[in-house]
Amino acid sequence: MTETQTITIAKGDGIGPEIMDSTLEILKASGVPLKYEEIEVGKQVYLGGNTTGISEDAWATIRRNKAFLKAPITTPQGGGYKSLNVTIRKTLGLYANVRPCKTFRPFIPAFNDMDMVIVRENEEDLYAGIEYQQTSEAIEAVKLISKPGSERIIRYAFEYAKVYGRKKVTCMTKDNIMKHTDGMFHRIFKIVSKEYPEIEAEHRIIDIGSANVASNPEDLDVIVTLNLYGDIISDIMAQVAGSVGLSGSANVGQGRAMFEAIHGSAPDIAGKDIANPCGLLHGAILMLDYLGMSDYARKIEAATLCALEEGIHTGDLFQEGITKRKVGTKEFTAAVIRRMGKEPKNIKVRKRNAKEISFGMSKQVKSSKELVGADLFLDWDESKRQASVLGDSILKLTGDKFSFGLITNRGVKVWPGDMPETYASDQWRLRFMPSNGKITNSDVIELMTRVTEAGFDIIKLENLYDFDGERAYSLAQGE
Ligand code: NAD
Repeated sequence: MTETQTITIAKGDGIGPEIMDSTLEILKASGVPLKYEEIEVGKQVYLGGNTTGISEDAWATIRRNKAFLKAPITTPQGGGYKSLNVTIRKTLGLYANVRPCKTFRPFIPAFNDMDMVIVRENEEDLYAGIEYQQTSEAIEAVKLISKPGSERIIRYAFEYAKVYGRKKVTCMTKDNIMKHTDGMFHRIFKIVSKEYPEIEAEHRIIDIGSANVASNPEDLDVIVTLNLYGDIISDIMAQVAGSVGLSGSANVGQGRAMFEAIHGSAPDIAGKDIANPCGLLHGAILMLDYLGMSDYARKIEAATLCALEEGIHTGDLFQEGITKRKVGTKEFTAAVIRRMGKEPKNIKVRKRNAKEISFGMSKQVKSSKELVGADLFLDWDESKRQASVLGDSILKLTGDKFSFGLITNRGVKVWPGDMPETYASDQWRLRFMPSNGKITNSDVIELMTRVTEAGFDIIKLENLYDFDGERAYSLAQGE
């Protein structure tokens, strides 16, 4: 007999409560021995005065239970509070976001055939949301990528491929442009892939890779990628598969995981009984597999596929000729429950694999680091923004420890040899290299003092380093 397990649930915002009720009804009908502890998270908690959107008690519940089934939460766009989804993923160390997606044409409407899994890094990248406004015109976001974070997600992708009998892992980055951040991810992919000779490993640039996800997804198997790219291509994948309302995802960490639909709270259709509950239901199926309750996962998946292949579809899936009956959330739920214990006629239910994914990490070796220069960023909006005026003024402040020979604006060289066509914003980068010999942090501080005392507004210092004797900062365009 399967032992009863307790999980945390949150009904979320928008369509969240409707699709959670549907999912819980289906779980109950399957007979799975689960107990639920419900917590409140999201907009209502925030509006109730808790600016984090989640209470201490809720954290305690989430940490007590191994699995958390979460309906979508509304995150304000532009301003307002930080994404609670991101906070939960990062606070709990749920480093891998796993999004499997399989289509069953012609029985279930989809634009293309696919059987793909996106393994998305879940804690780093631009998704960390570290942003600063520095001048009237310029705002910066920090793209932070770590070696262990990259290695862990890449290893996870290969281990996943091994456990689930997948043939190929495709890494997607933009390392032709971001040579250091994405470049490191790609480099680690090449190194780790050598430990899995039985699995094909390839790399695609994310832009053409995204196009491939849309046009020929049948050619892709497991994709491993950085946080933001993974977020975007997951929605492309889900849409090509028929609807964003179909796919679920697992956010996996050490000994704990959170499961959800890949879509958001869909406020445009909330409360109308038209939302497709399959995304969250798919999340619940992944959760049951994770909890070692695969018999129940299989039973629910089979019943859901029965309803879908018989043409019982919510509006988002509707397709003339395939859909036999267009239904609402409640009717779809009842249709799945009626089919509990049945097998689909045309579709094969996925084989289960109860093995856990576990692996070791390589030992991090400390690199040697040498300070080889400094970039000072200025807010400067004088002299009609002529780079030559700025260059001439700064040259007088350089001192004997440094040589100064480069100004860039928005990453492109504007001095010396500026071109009148290049637009200059009010944010400038001045690059200082050692005139001869070594420089120290104190030399940089003295330089900054001279520049500040001359009336310039330094908004940021970025030290330039060599690591293990290799240049570890980007060159400017045109440098
Ligand atoms: P969304 O995914 O909520 O909706 C996009 C479109 O898909 C809408 O037209 C919606 O009606 C439709 N849709 C989504 N789910 C559906 C379903 N189950 N059935 C039928 N149609 C469905 O994306 P959005 O509108 O950009 O975001 C709304 C809110 O959700 C935002 O606040 C966003 O931050 C949040 N969000 C939360 C999560 C999460 O909780 N994990 C994920 C993504 C977005």
